[in-house]
Amino acid sequence: MNITKLILAGVIALVTATSYAETCCEKAKAAGKDCAHPCCVKAKADGKVCEKCNPKK
Ligand SMILES: [Zn+2]
Ligand SMILES: [Zn+2]
Repeated sequence: MNITKLILAGVIALVTATSYAETCCEKAKAAGKDCAHPCCVKAKADGKVCEKCNPKK
């Protein structure tokens, strides 16, 4: 059994998950839906994207 390889795979998975952080709206879009957050729904009604949840990079 190669425990070092197992730990390394776990670390890589964790780094990948944290570095690829999607916003709530991106997740909803990927699922083919609109974000259900009240702040995002309000922003969408104004033809914008919620800046609170989608901060400019
Ligand atoms: Zn959202
Ligand atoms: Zn929002």
